Amino acid sequence: MLQTSSSLINRINESATIATAQRARELKAQGIKVVNLSLGEPDFETPQYIKDAAIEAINNNVTKYPPVPGFPELRAAISSKLQRENGLTYTPNEISVSTGAKQCLANAILSTVNADDEVILFSPYWVTYKEIVNITGAKVIELKAGIEQDFKVSVEQLSAAITSKTRMIIFSSPCNPTGSVYDKTELEAIAKLVCEHPKALIISDEIYEYINYDGKHHSIASFEGMKERTLIVNGASKGFAMTGWRLGFMAGPEAIIKFCNKLQGQITSGTCSIAQMAATAAFNGGKSTVEYMVSTYRERKELMRELLGDIAGLKVNNPKGAFYLFVDASAVLGKKTPEGKSINTTLELAQYLLEDKHVAIVAGEAFGLEGCFRI
Ligand code: PLP
Repeated sequence: MLQTSSSLINRINESATIATAQRARELKAQGIKVVNLSLGEPDFETPQYIKDAAIEAINNNVTKYPPVPGFPELRAAISSKLQRENGLTYTPNEISVSTGAKQCLANAILSTVNADDEVILFSPYWVTYKEIVNITGAKVIELKAGIEQDFKVSVEQLSAAITSKTRMIIFSSPCNPTGSVYDKTELEAIAKLVCEHPKALIISDEIYEYINYDGKHHSIASFEGMKERTLIVNGASKGFAMTGWRLGFMAGPEAIIKFCNKLQGQITSGTCSIAQMAATAAFNGGKSTVEYMVSTYRERKELMRELLGDIAGLKVNNPKGAFYLFVDASAVLGKKTPEGKSINTTLELAQYLLEDKHVAIVAGEAFGLEGCFRI
């Protein structure tokens, strides 16, 4: 029989969020009205000044192969952004632009992690981290944090898990799926511990940086000894409502950035030239459009917390960032629906809500924490 797959592809799973969104689309195509709360995507339009920059780029024929790490003007804009907003100094050679933050993550993990390494994930985590690590064959160590600790892994948990084999620690703050934000003190404690382990790198996924309800964003790269071992992943997708443009960036040690560029140069080359010019306008522009979006997300968050809070058995978190709620539904599991169906897991709950009630959510299983779901 024809063998259609490699052992590599069999090591990874399909994205649960994409699979749920696909099923929701199928139901919609059958004429069913589906409330789709599965994909993590702003419903706003990309701001006009960003679209104008893209149109100008097309009219100016910025349409040839761009440099693999990104146009110098875009990397300069990102470098200024990091200085101005984060107090971090990165030269353009310490910045690489990719086709979405997702590609930055893949570049970073595949360029640095070996099969005999260990990679620590703060759970619940964004689905993709684990699957990319699985490509490397490295051992994934999941540190779980439930709603009682605001879904944040403590430094004590990390201390018990980190070893001389730990190559990488990956987390997002603000976090997808929970919206939790690690505060300055928590990040500093993690940074101090990680610095004691010479082999350990950190991927600090800051893609939700701008969607923060609590004030200032802190990057773990800003603490002593951390810049040389942190890879900041960020991009235009969430803050500027640019998910379809596919533009992410990474800032980190020049040597690692070089390896990421080497990998990218063989797989996709430089990111779409038009998207790069649009992103240059975005990172150079003001944040008024971002602020408008954030205030709307905040209103929606409060409304949803109120509505979900009225449902007996659900525990609803109070996210400090991103645009998700991560709801603990463990008390309703093991019960029956009004139609008499048993719901024993959040996967079954998500399936029931989609197929019978036409509401798409994502079960916590996809993020390493069953008993919860993300909307
Ligand atoms: N990191 C996190 C935590 C995300 O939630 C997402 C998108 O959902 C990404 C990275 C990927 O971003 P991009 O769309 O720029 O690839």
